[in-house]
This record gives sequence, C-alpha cells and structure tokens, in this order.
Amino acid sequence: MTPAAVEFRDIAMRFGDKVALQGINLAIEEGSFVVLLGPSGGGKTTLLNILGGFLEPSGGQVLIKGQDVTQVPPAKRPTTTVFQDYALFPHMSIAGNVGFGLRMRGVARAERAARVEKALEMVGLGHTALRRVHELSGGQRQRIALARALVVEPSVLLLDEPLGALDMKLRRQMQEELKAIQKRVGTTFVHVTHDQEEAMAIADVIVVMNEGSIEDLGTPERIYLQPASRFAANFMGENNLIEGRVAGRESDTAKITTPLGDFAVAGKAEIGASVALSLRPEHLHPEAGDGRVALGQGTVIEAGFFGTHHQCSVAHKGHDTILKLRLPQKRIVVPGETLSLYADPADMVLLSR
Ligand code: ATP
Repeated sequence: MTPAAVEFRDIAMRFGDKVALQGINLAIEEGSFVVLLGPSGGGKTTLLNILGGFLEPSGGQVLIKGQDVTQVPPAKRPTTTVFQDYALFPHMSIAGNVGFGLRMRGVARAERAARVEKALEMVGLGHTALRRVHELSGGQRQRIALARALVVEPSVLLLDEPLGALDMKLRRQMQEELKAIQKRVGTTFVHVTHDQEEAMAIADVIVVMNEGSIEDLGTPERIYLQPASRFAANFMGENNLIEGRVAGRESDTAKITTPLGDFAVAGKAEIGASVALSLRPEHLHPEAGDGRVALGQGTVIEAGFFGTHHQCSVAHKGHDTILKLRLPQKRIVVPGETLSLYADPADMVLLSR
C-alpha cells in the first residue's frame, strides 16, 4: 500500500496554557485537494504551520509519504507554502521571483530557465517573465506566487488563505483556476480558508476544524448533505437545526419528537437522547408534496432576492423559532405573509452531537 501523502498522528499544540490543537489524526491521500475549513481560531493555520515545519507540535508526529518529518526544518521538507500576502520580491523580475527557490537549491541556469518557463505557462503567465511585480494585478501576483511554489516540485503545496486579498469576483475565478492547476500538476494541495463556499468549490476533501479538533471530514457533498455534527451542519451553508428527543427506534429509523412535530428519520440514536435535525433551507417548502409532512405555519419576517432564488426567514407560529426557507426564483414572498411549511423527513439529518 502506498503511504499517505501526509499523515498527522495524534498532533497536539499548546501555546503556554492555550490548547490550539488536540487529538489531530488525519491521513491525506496523494494528489488530493484538501481544504482545512473553520472559524477564526479553530487551529487551521497552526496545523498548516506544523505541516510546513514552521512550528514544532507539542505532541504527535507528522509523516510525509511515510517519512517522519516532525523534527525536519521547513527548507528540508518536500513542501512549499503560498501565503496570502504573496511575499514576492519587488526588485526582481517575475522570472527571478519564480526561479528564486531553484537558485537557492543550486539548480543550473539553463535548467532553471526551462523550469521557470514551464511553471509560468502552467499558471497562464508565460508572457510576463521579464516584468516586475508592481506591473501585475492582484490575481496575476497570486498566480506568480503559485508558480514559484510549484516550480520546485514539492510533494505537498500548502496554501494559507491564498485568495483572501482578492475581491469576490476575482476570488471565484481564481478558485476555478486553482482547482484546474491542481488537477493538471497532480500535486497534493492543503489549503486553509474560513470561506465555506470556497471550500465547496475547490476541495476533494474538506476537514472542518473547530476549537483545535476535527469536527467533520469528507467530500463537500457528504458534509453538506450528511453533516456529522451540529457545528458542521451550521458552518457549511445555511441550515435549520430543530432540537428534539428520540422517542422510539425501529431498525434504521428513529422517531424524533420536536416542537414542530414528530418525524421518522433515518439514523440510529439512543431512546431519550437529545438530538437535532438538520434541515437545509432548500428542503423546507411552502406547499405540500410527495413524502412531505406539515410543520405548521410561519410568518415571513424577512425576504431577499439572490438572483437564482429567494431566501426568507419565517417566524414559526406556535413555537419560538426562526426558520430559513429557500424559494424558487419566480416565487415572490413579502414580509408579513403567512406560509404553511412542509418538509420530507428523508431530507432531515439526525445529529447526535
Ligand atoms: P485564523 O483563520 O484566524 O487564522 P485559525 O483557525 O487558523 O484561525 P490558528 O491561527 O491556528 O487558528 O489559532 C488557533 C488558536 O491558537 C487560537 O486561539 C490562537 O489564538 C492560538 N495561537 C496561534 N498561534 C499562537 C501563538 N504563536 N501564540 C499563542 N497563541 C497562538
């Protein structure tokens, strides 16, 4: 069996008495695009810095392709990092910037030139080799930083909020490019962001981090559709969490009693346990339909148009809760309107933690 591109074994990190990471066990498959996602302070950057060798963990081991690198300094690791501020040298040409790492490694001039050219082509900037950094736009600088990191052919490329400085439109465009470049080079990418849309757009695997631990780990689809915890359900996309209690069980179905009704939902949980049902706004409907059950009525308190859909908040009549609802483009709602609410229990996800 080929070893994982990266393996974290029981990593812990403390800064004084502050615990930044604990019990991190994670294997990253060769050639995958992995995104560490979570709120500020969750421990993403600390874990990335431990992988890059900029921080030594308080406990545990880091392996790259099966080799223990826990004690290996950054320059001796098969990793390179792309930072948010690019850290390009203003006095050097673009080619000089991209070739810098190769020069440091003593690669001869001719080979260096060929590899720099190839790396610039890869990011679509072959024509900029002789220019200076200040002549390039933010998106182009980001691509130069990427070319500079890829030119040394690392086993793992680390990206710390690399698109954070770009405006929204450019950011979305760069996400697509980043994903395309990663697939082209086949290098393992580990990318840190707190932007869940960015994570869903680019990741093969998302690692949801919170308070120094891994909350959830899987493909974007799996985490969105079947989140493992309340935190993951709330952090990835909009959500409604309906708190309830397990009233009964039957093979793979649990009967959940909630203030909005009783629902038979797939999943296993102990009778009497406090649980939550995750219900995405697009799975809450203002009309009855196949498999749907009634959840009572609500008053629209807020409605917004998002181009592809309308999103509204509804105050439930009878229970003190606000529900989020996503409606088709042509279905216009106005504040004050009463809606009857329906959902299919098959769209509800049982969360035990
Ligand atoms: P952000 O998106 O804000 O960078 P993050 O998820 O990357 O957040 P980290 O930067 O890894 O989080 O920080 C995790 C925790 O460790 C935070 O509580 C932070 O304050 C703490 N921390 C990080 N670096 C240090 C340090 N050098 N000294 C003390 N505490 C630190």
